[in-house]
Amino acid sequence: MQSKLPHIGTTIFTVMSKMAQDYGAINLSQGFPDFDCPERLKELVTKRLYDNKNQYPPMAGIPLLRQEIANKIKKLYGFTADFESEITVTSGATEAIFNAVQATVTAGDEVIIFDPAYDCYEPAILMAGATPVRISLELPDYAINWQALDDAISEKTKLVIINSPHNPCGSVLTRSDLDLLAKAIRKKDILVLSDEVYEHMVFEGQIHQSVLSHPELSEKSYAVFSFGKTYHATGWKLAYCVARPQLTEEFRKIHQFVTFTSTSFVQYAMADFMAECPEHALELSAFYQAKRDKFCELLEPSRFKLLPSKGTYFQLADYSAISDKNDIEFANELTQERGVAAIPLTPFYANAPGTKILRFCFCKDDSTLKSAAKILCQL
Ligand code: PMP
Ligand code: GLN
Repeated sequence: MQSKLPHIGTTIFTVMSKMAQDYGAINLSQGFPDFDCPERLKELVTKRLYDNKNQYPPMAGIPLLRQEIANKIKKLYGFTADFESEITVTSGATEAIFNAVQATVTAGDEVIIFDPAYDCYEPAILMAGATPVRISLELPDYAINWQALDDAISEKTKLVIINSPHNPCGSVLTRSDLDLLAKAIRKKDILVLSDEVYEHMVFEGQIHQSVLSHPELSEKSYAVFSFGKTYHATGWKLAYCVARPQLTEEFRKIHQFVTFTSTSFVQYAMADFMAECPEHALELSAFYQAKRDKFCELLEPSRFKLLPSKGTYFQLADYSAISDKNDIEFANELTQERGVAAIPLTPFYANAPGTKILRFCFCKDDSTLKSAAKILCQL
């Protein structure tokens, strides 16, 4: 059988988490918390399970949850969404991203992504038969070069994928970035897929700039969010996509035949929790900023050079003072011989620049961060 994706291997998150497990390393690689989701949320899940909410929910998600989402995006982003025709619940942001790409592009089309790019974008584009056009984010702060975007746009461009706060870099887009994006695609037949799964993790008092808060972009975007990140429940694989009715209609044509719908009782519990504890999401930035600061303080005596992390729960660290190895070799050595797992950046690039930078995930108990930092400070 001929592979449809000959250049795609196993995702680096799976590779590094397995290596961490095999070698008993502290796992600061794949992005998931080592603390649990809120107790009340677990109670609500149990309650809804025993309320017998166990059969197929509606294809687009239960109305209760979509109404809660509509309230939230109105409050936070000033975006008025009709929950019936503009909000779809999905089995993870990964599914939503896949659906949005399949819904919008086909053979011969081009999709612009920014390197380093989160790893599920490219396979989704290739599966649609389209071509990824990759623009490098620019060091030192992994900013988008908007001139490079203008230069990359062609007649064939149908979609631009943005991600803010950015995984793996921890950079965030500003309002003026969104203005420049809007200008670049104005009067063109180009849509935006905006991956905003880290919307509640922005530091130093910044405000997350959602495409939904931008009147021009919100009309031509799929905005994707994930409950997994916000509610410390990555294993539940629950997320949602917001887009105008015509876009949502095309999105649902894919969604209904990829998963059809998402786990019923978890949807009910999430709706209950959003209504009962709206502060959870709003307090998350402060919570993760404290974790970031703790991790950085612990690494202060090390020979790692820390790059700015303005959002997400990831911290990039330059190890060029420690090793000459490339990032994949160094990540393997760190995991297997030193006992701390991290993510190399090379897998997120088409042409990796050869920087000596690893991504560490800091959504961990302080005790985990301390144990990891003790090892990292000895290098
Ligand atoms: N986009 C980005 C940038 C991510 O980091 C992740 C991982 N959480 C996803 C999408 C996928 O999210 P989910 O687990 O909800 O599928
Ligand atoms: N988004 C997570 C990360 O960046 C990984 C999700 C996954 O393993 N699919 O680490």
